[in-house]
Amino acid sequence: MGSAAAVAIEVAVEKASRNDLQSVLFGLSAESLEKLSTAIAEPAQLAQPDVPKTVSIVCRICLEPVDVAPGPQCACRGSASFAHLHCLIKVAESKQTIEAWRRCTVCKECYVGPTRLNLARAMWDKYGSMPDDHPAHMAAADMLMTALQETGHRAEAARMLRENYARLKEQLGEKHMRTLVAANNLANALESPFEKASLMQEAVASASPVFGAEHEFTLGMTYTWATAIKDCGRYEDATRLFEQTLQIMITRLGADHEYTLACTAELALSLHKSGNNARALGMLKQQVVDSKRVFGPEHPNTLDVQESLGSVLLAEGSTAEAKDLLSNTFQASKRVQGPDHPNTLKCSLSLARALHKQNCSTNALEILISTLDSMKRVLGNEDCTTMCCARELGIVLKETGVTDKGVELLGATLKTMTSQLGAEHPETLMCSKALA
Ligand SMILES: [Zn+2]
Ligand SMILES: [Zn+2]
Repeated sequence: MGSAAAVAIEVAVEKASRNDLQSVLFGLSAESLEKLSTAIAEPAQLAQPDVPKTVSIVCRICLEPVDVAPGPQCACRGSASFAHLHCLIKVAESKQTIEAWRRCTVCKECYVGPTRLNLARAMWDKYGSMPDDHPAHMAAADMLMTALQETGHRAEAARMLRENYARLKEQLGEKHMRTLVAANNLANALESPFEKASLMQEAVASASPVFGAEHEFTLGMTYTWATAIKDCGRYEDATRLFEQTLQIMITRLGADHEYTLACTAELALSLHKSGNNARALGMLKQQVVDSKRVFGPEHPNTLDVQESLGSVLLAEGSTAEAKDLLSNTFQASKRVQGPDHPNTLKCSLSLARALHKQNCSTNALEILISTLDSMKRVLGNEDCTTMCCARELGIVLKETGVTDKGVELLGATLKTMTSQLGAEHPETLMCSKALA
């Protein structure tokens, strides 16, 4: 790689963009403006993946040179930050533990982005042919499904999970525990909250008589069902189901159980969505303390709860506090989960909202444009979070005088929201209100 020439070309591009009159007018970089046109043009297929810049660096395992895109592989930084995929696979194979495929042996953090997916695929290649109730097969399937969903291959994951669910239903019957687990996993990969809700309603109805309504297994599935109801915009029904489930979880599983904590966080969000910010705020503040104690300060679950707290603080008017919390959470999430992880993207949207509220509209626009671009790639055009990000970008554009583009984007988003969520969904109603 002729690095001197590459640097010279980069500098030239940089100068050209600085001189771009339009970008000076808008206070946006040319790159952002270009992404904006892409963001507004409907299909995500238009978003070209960034051309990786290759750098000369050495693999920390075999010490041979690496030609890789300098994206994060884990939380390792500096000269120890890169390793060949085949070297990482060798390390994972030698450890003979499931965790070795998921976590870096140096920094102990989970692998992120393409590395995470490539290792998950390698693990699946190795264990996928074992009997499908073997722990290694199940762990590999679980890791591959999660990795696919978090790296922009949601449709592929949904297809595999749908096939798996149909097969188990056929072979074991719909009340078998493994069929029900498959239903739960499929539900989490589905784009449509309505399909998710009806699948989980059936699954919970099948599980309750077999395992008992208060069994940990049934409770976990009821939790997934309640999140689906919330995503359908039925906030009061969801709140009721979360409250009822949470009571049982506290007595049966304990206050610090992973399900209990997740259910509390979702209940708080459901309350927030139905306008009860005061109660949501108290619950989430406590949740952050509990999550830090149970999972650790930078665990994905803790970061997720912090993001929720930030959003509720923002809705309740504590803008500066919200912005600081969201900004710290975003940095941590980027480091721990990677820049394209769905939770990092969700946090980046909330951070942009906080910046907009603080009148830092140029910053907010830059973040929204690149976040929308990544969400379309990772989550898909018709994901609820992607549509909410598009709506937010439309609002900020409209309010900062880029009215035509804003109205155009809001109109397109309203159309997608109406077809995906229905005209009466609260998120759709917020979009048509923004357009009015
Ligand atoms: Zn190597
Ligand atoms: Zn590492």
